[in-house]
Amino acid sequence: MINCKDLTENLDLYLNKKPIKGSSRLGIWMHLLVCKNCRVYAEQIKTVSELGPQVHEQEKKEDACSEEFKNDLVKKYKKTNPGL
Ligand SMILES: [Zn+2]
Repeated sequence: MINCKDLTENLDLYLNKKPIKGSSRLGIWMHLLVCKNCRVYAEQIKTVSELGPQVHEQEKKEDACSEEFKNDLVKKYKKTNPGL
């Protein structure tokens, strides 16, 4: 069984569906099932990596903080967190 440290080190690879050295994807998946802290952490990483490139795109434009942009972010956030 992998521990929280192993998980945080390999989470990026896991979420990007890349091969993981040393620990198996199944090990990470199982750890996420039993460890609430790492599950919350994984959700945050996932949200950031999904919104990341678009936020970066938007930053190049002048109206980076327009209402439309904020609403769009909120919509996307709700989509990735259906419980909210
Ligand atoms: Zn953990």
